[in-house]
Amino acid sequence: MADQLHAVIAGAGIGGLTAAVALSRAGLRVTLLERARAIEAAGAGLQLAPNATGVLAELGLLDRVMQAALTPEHLRIRRASDGVELASFPLGVIAEARWGAPSAVIHRADLQQALLERCAADPAITLEADAPVKGFAETAKGVEIACGRAGASRSIMADLLIGADGLRSTIRSRLGIGAADQPVWSGRTAWRALLPANQAPKGALKLETCLWLGPKSHLVHYPLRGGALINIVAITEDDWRGDEAADLWAISGSPGDVAPRFSRWHRDARLLVGAAKEWKRWPLFDREPAARWTLERVALLGDAAHPMLPFFAQGAAQAIEDAGALGRAFQRTHEIRAALADYEGARRRRAADVVIASRRQGAIYHMSGPMAFARDLTMRSLGPHLMMSRLDWLYDHRGRS
Ligand SMILES: Cc1cc2nc3c(=O)[nH]c(=O)nc-3n(C[C@H](O)[C@H](O)[C@H](O)COP(=O)(O)OP(=O)(O)OC[C@H]3O[C@@H](n4cnc5c(N)ncnc54)[C@H](O)[C@@H]3O)c2cc1C
Repeated sequence: MADQLHAVIAGAGIGGLTAAVALSRAGLRVTLLERARAIEAAGAGLQLAPNATGVLAELGLLDRVMQAALTPEHLRIRRASDGVELASFPLGVIAEARWGAPSAVIHRADLQQALLERCAADPAITLEADAPVKGFAETAKGVEIACGRAGASRSIMADLLIGADGLRSTIRSRLGIGAADQPVWSGRTAWRALLPANQAPKGALKLETCLWLGPKSHLVHYPLRGGALINIVAITEDDWRGDEAADLWAISGSPGDVAPRFSRWHRDARLLVGAAKEWKRWPLFDREPAARWTLERVALLGDAAHPMLPFFAQGAAQAIEDAGALGRAFQRTHEIRAALADYEGARRRRAADVVIASRRQGAIYHMSGPMAFARDLTMRSLGPHLMMSRLDWLYDHRGRS
């Protein structure tokens, strides 16, 4: 097709890969440029909330993704000090009926693999690794994208550029949002471990999905890969900001750093944390919601647009929502400015709401003393149905067109 639009996407994370599929379905040719020297499966567990699985269904990706995912039957919330159950939600049973799509957990590498397979099978999508995007210039005819490592740099002309290049986005830094637009450090660290289920403590409920609330910290665990692995995420308050240049998937933490932080927690949590021998460590950042996401031919997507704290487990889910909205906008029109304005209009306010709600949720999860006592009392008195109704705004993807 001579006048087929050509989109370049910077970044082949979950957001960039899903956006490539969405744009190809809308009739565009797509080039994905990834900075990493090779695209390697990386990461740990991800919860895929119904607002994400709903979009994956719309993009024809859900059946393949669900082959590698699990649907947790229940989500239990327990108190760290004595293990008392504060609430239990029948997520597996009610998600589809209530929010129109399933709730799932999956290894990020398996989700990435499903998306990579779909991109590789699509002649309209080209994926290049070792191709860092350095900058861009909008012209009357298109957008000129500078990419490649020193000594091998080149420029690519495209009709539009999508910046799906993560928390420290190069594209965002050139959007003219202002010098004050920087990652905001939360004062918290996420510790992540993948525990082989056969190394889990005796009596551990290996298929259970559980959120533990303790003073200034919380712990989440759920099964992956048919129950062969238990994904553990522990979030604590910390003064470590990480190293900006480091690959976030590769910073190790030692068991001796993690276990003492849970020494006063209920035995079930203590034993689980103690059983994990390898930890990865993440400093947690978000950003203030941006005043804009787009120029005439350039738009942000995923963490580049709205990095958020993981207290609602929504970062990848919101990137997937972005991809769905971008695809819908180009289904409606191939007039680039109109489509990007449509996309921004559909997404910017909603993503900002989730960024702010995630901060608020962090403050609630990490309460201590009398505040925590009041929170626990409220949770127990509300009951699962009222508590789930508080998630309708977040999880119900239907009607977002
Ligand atoms: C502890 C923790 C738990 C989480 N749990 C969940 C969860 O349960 N559910 C959920 O939905 N989300 C969760 N998230 C959030 C989720 O992991 C991220 O929001 C999501 O992966 C972001 O995807 P992305 O594609 O936007 O960005 P990224 O995954 O950061 O991908 C960006 C890509 O761009 C590439 N890149 C960077 N710069 C350039 C450049 N200049 N040129 C070309 N390529 C470039 C990078 O190499 C990378 O591949 C969690 C996050 C944390 C920290």
